[in-house]
Amino acid sequence: EASESLNFLEQIIEEDLAAGLPKEKLRFRFPPEPNGYLHIGHAASICLNFGLGEKYKAPVNLRFDDTNPAKEEQEYVDAIKHDISWLGFQWAEECYSSDYFQQLYDWAVQLIKNDKAYVDGQSAAAMAEQKGTPTTPGVASPHRDQSVEMNLDLFERMKNGEFEPGKYVLRAKIDMASSNMLMRDPILYRILNKAHHRTGNDWCIYPMYDWAHGESDYIEQVSHSLCTLEFKMHRELYDWFLDQIYDPSLLRPKQREFARRNMSYTVMSKRKLLQLVQDKVVSGWNDPRMPTISGLRRRGYTPESIRKFSEVSGISKRDSVTDVSLLEFCIREDLNKTATRVMGVLDPVKLVISNYPADKVEMLAMENNPEDPNSGTHEVPFSRELYIEREDFKEEAGNKFFRLTLGNEVRLKSAYIIKGESMVKDASGKITEIHCTAELDSRSGSGTEASQRRVKGTLHWVSIAHAIKAEVREYDRLFLEEAPDAHEDKDFMEFINPNSLRVIKEAYLEPFLAGATLDDKFQFQRLGYFTLDTDSTSDHLVFNKTVGLRDSWAK
Ligand code: ATP
Ligand code: MG
Ligand code: MG
Repeated sequence: EASESLNFLEQIIEEDLAAGLPKEKLRFRFPPEPNGYLHIGHAASICLNFGLGEKYKAPVNLRFDDTNPAKEEQEYVDAIKHDISWLGFQWAEECYSSDYFQQLYDWAVQLIKNDKAYVDGQSAAAMAEQKGTPTTPGVASPHRDQSVEMNLDLFERMKNGEFEPGKYVLRAKIDMASSNMLMRDPILYRILNKAHHRTGNDWCIYPMYDWAHGESDYIEQVSHSLCTLEFKMHRELYDWFLDQIYDPSLLRPKQREFARRNMSYTVMSKRKLLQLVQDKVVSGWNDPRMPTISGLRRRGYTPESIRKFSEVSGISKRDSVTDVSLLEFCIREDLNKTATRVMGVLDPVKLVISNYPADKVEMLAMENNPEDPNSGTHEVPFSRELYIEREDFKEEAGNKFFRLTLGNEVRLKSAYIIKGESMVKDASGKITEIHCTAELDSRSGSGTEASQRRVKGTLHWVSIAHAIKAEVREYDRLFLEEAPDAHEDKDFMEFINPNSLRVIKEAYLEPFLAGATLDDKFQFQRLGYFTLDTDSTSDHLVFNKTVGLRDSWAK
């Protein structure tokens, strides 16, 4: 294998294997905090960790990092599991940091006994003050040299609920002069009188992230704990904590960091996504405009497209922003290969074919997908009165307009060549009907010479008598600004696009779409890719536009 085809994390793993780590000891984890829904940034981490699992045939745990009951909920746990499965990945074990609360507590007691931890009763402000600055050493807490007996007693009483939140914390005794501020006696435990979604009221002290995370990796014997760059400085602490409890006969986990995935025209932190939900800027975590996995799914994105996006954006050592048009490119590519071609008219105007019999209905065969020879056909009814898109006709048009005008020809998709003859307008001058004649031997696929004749434009259409009505929702970017949360002087909420949702109350679709299900993907010919929305019911169909056929944002 050529080493240039490996990303830098794979290179680290290969080096570890070469240095003697047995391949069967490789183990990875994806560690979400259940305080929100997964987003496209998480998908990078999911695809990375589960991708390594597939590559090395190694187990990947799903670990819920549930150490902060103030923000965590079962709803999020369920949604996270659903999203990972939907992406097509299977975890080896479902783990929870909260399952390790007793073990973590026991280890904390061991740290106290080894004079490596102490209970501090100062205010948060006093402790922050004593921390110092990166260029000046900190000042030791007056409690730092308290006796082991006193620390054990206070810690047990913290656990037993004898104190109010904030009264005491347990701190590691490391180095108040360290150049790494995180090493200046970090907090291991704080008192929180909050019920936990899994442990209920069993605990009123909760471990901090740094204490829980590495030790959880160790308990699960994770070989490579891959996290995002903001944890780089935490690695020293991760290693220090492991040093305190590590049994050399067991595997020692290794933390390594990679860059977060950011994407243009959106925000990606759960806190900000939650604010969009709470402020009702969007209808929920799964609003089709959200960068969440559930929003993308509802919008019509496929697991394959999200996995492809992760693959092509790659894993990096440095933070960067991926253009959202790359994600759109990935879904377009996938749907082009898989979506069923149908016709729907979003802004209808009536078209009457004056030489076509009024009582005649033909069932025309429409190719389901020209990209897939095995996809077959479905039938579309054709009759004398049709709807076409209002913008596909112009009374007066220049010679660059290849759609319908008076006196010129276009082909109706999979049907006849027609020629515009006249039109009807209402009192306000709005066109209400277009009359045309069809070349009756030109039907596509009929084998005649006229059926082969090529004309400049092809229009989509639906038969008025057979069309079904549906609501169609079209989306634009949720933010008008490429990097909405990168402004120091402005809040990201100031860049919300007020026109990110366009609702078409009454679109007309070919009747085949009455049988659409949530999993079906369609290309509405000439308009884009669409899928049924979860709001849809049998008497009120609702379709979402996933993406247009072309990148309308390309410069
Ligand atoms: P947020 O800031 O959105 O709340 P988080 O990092 O706090 O993100 P976690 O639930 O802790 O969210 O994330 C689970 C895993 O996914 C972590 O390993 C985290 O590093 C990774 N992750 C989160 N966001 C991204 C991102 N934008 N790009 C790549 N990985 C991410
Ligand atoms: Mg986190
Ligand atoms: Mg977070």
